[in-house]
Amino acid sequence: MGKVILKNRFWLGLTVIFKILIGIVFVQVPLTLQKMIDCATDGDYEGFKRWFLFTALFFMLIGVVDYGNRVVQAKYMEKTLTYMKEKVISGIVNKEHIDFFSRNSSEYISSLTNDINLMDKNFIGPLLETIGDVAIIVGSAGALVWINPVIAGMLLVMSILILMLPKVFGKVLARKQESYSKGLSYYTLRIKDILMGYEVVEAYHLREKVLRDHDSYNKDVQNRNFKAIEAISRVSALSTYLSITTQALSVGIGVWYVFRGMLTLGSLFAISQLNAYLVVPIEGIAQKITLVGSMKEIRKKLQAYILEGEKTDQRQKKAEFKDKIVFRHVTFSYPEGEDTVLLDFDMTFEKGKKYAVVGASGSGKSTIIRLLLRYYDCDQGEILMDDTQIGEFSKASFYDQIAVIQQNVYMFDDTLKENIVLGRNYREENLAEALKESGVETFLPLLEDGLDTVLKEDGGRLSGGQKQRVAIARALLEKKPILLLDEATSALDAKTCCEIENTVLEIKDITLISVTHRLTKEILSRFDEVLVMDGGKIVEHGTFDDLLASGGYLYDLYYNAARRESEMTKE
Ligand code: ATP
Repeated sequence: MGKVILKNRFWLGLTVIFKILIGIVFVQVPLTLQKMIDCATDGDYEGFKRWFLFTALFFMLIGVVDYGNRVVQAKYMEKTLTYMKEKVISGIVNKEHIDFFSRNSSEYISSLTNDINLMDKNFIGPLLETIGDVAIIVGSAGALVWINPVIAGMLLVMSILILMLPKVFGKVLARKQESYSKGLSYYTLRIKDILMGYEVVEAYHLREKVLRDHDSYNKDVQNRNFKAIEAISRVSALSTYLSITTQALSVGIGVWYVFRGMLTLGSLFAISQLNAYLVVPIEGIAQKITLVGSMKEIRKKLQAYILEGEKTDQRQKKAEFKDKIVFRHVTFSYPEGEDTVLLDFDMTFEKGKKYAVVGASGSGKSTIIRLLLRYYDCDQGEILMDDTQIGEFSKASFYDQIAVIQQNVYMFDDTLKENIVLGRNYREENLAEALKESGVETFLPLLEDGLDTVLKEDGGRLSGGQKQRVAIARALLEKKPILLLDEATSALDAKTCCEIENTVLEIKDITLISVTHRLTKEILSRFDEVLVMDGGKIVEHGTFDDLLASGGYLYDLYYNAARRESEMTKE
């Protein structure tokens, strides 16, 4: 976190200079007023006029310094918070797949919004203001010692008492603030659920339930906020009480000195003002330390993201798919599950060939894809790309080799073109080729602005099949040599499914592994090999026609599926 705060040294330095300047000019205010009052009590009218003019000009200078102080601090905050968000988001997107998905996305959103706002309000802001407070305290203490050392000594003792308050109450406050941050995170999660699941809410008349639930977690988060504020207020009230008492005491002692003729009225006035300049910032510092301390847990959370973003990929090997992918005796169970999902899975996928993976639900088909994408490590065995374990390749070069299309293709809130190009450099002819091969070209005339049509949130204006075509175009633009389809077409109707599968099968020079539920002769017979899975193992593999002819497991699956389909058609 220190690095983030010190990143914009120029603006930080300027902010510190202005804070110190503010301290210096503010301490001059009681001293100039003291001069005017002393001129009045001495009957020195000429002296009064001189000091009055000086004070008027001096106050203008204070205005200018005050303006500079605020603007410079705002600039520093702007730069620092921007940088902090960059670091946090970079940590989030730098996570390994499994780690990223171990948290709900609303937690990330909450950190980037709520937690960073809290850092602004309760950490960096108060720290900067403390610099100004210290400058005013040092200046005022110096002036007080010069005017009356006894009063200055008394103020010092009381100030130490006030400054000790945050230390005494710090832990409780940190706990309450952390609880508020958790509440905010949970609130964001629930709200996200309502907005993302709006169609379900509408279709099942869940409005009342949603409002009732919202009522409960809304109250909870606001109550947590109240408890955090209440705890901070307790400490603030105590420090306010101590500071007012200190002011009253110093004025009392000052009046005693005036009665004895040891202090002028002007000096008494200056003492009471300087007193405020001393005690108010000390009280302010106590409150700010309280706030800063209460941010400990939130800072730790953000710091963890920042460190994550600074991690460099230790894997140096550059992936370049040349020959084959080999699953060698792979055994795997999910960290969250107990059952063995893949058992001694052995298979070689050769470059340029097209493979279909079929089998009963839960037999481990998609798990092959997840392991190949390095989402998880195998428990036993290994996965090799051209004789190198896939885990040894650098992340960037490895994912340059593989494209994956899943059932849900995410569309960004941008134009169709940007959704295909994804900010990458491309050549016009490659884009044209990708549009043609993926079939995106076929529905372009239906969109009013063609490629420049802005898609609504998550591609709301595209059909499922069109989204799959966009996903294919994304993969083709970079000419990735391996294409994985994980139930990509399961949600589509039979006709669209066939069209998409045909499109993919026609792509030349690509190694295709397609996990599919659809047992369509027309499609499956076009694959070089069909792997049939059951219970985490390949039970048979070969061409579709050979497997069907052998009357084995695929035969049963195929004819059962065909029977079901014909029964459904009759109904
Ligand atoms: P389907 O055809 O229904 O999609 P599949 O053959 O693709 O099934 P997988 O998704 O590979 O099956 O899942 C294999 C087994 O692993 C299933 O029993 C499933 O419940 C389990 N499983 C899948 N994902 C996880 C997970 N993240 N944690 C724990 N178990 C999981």
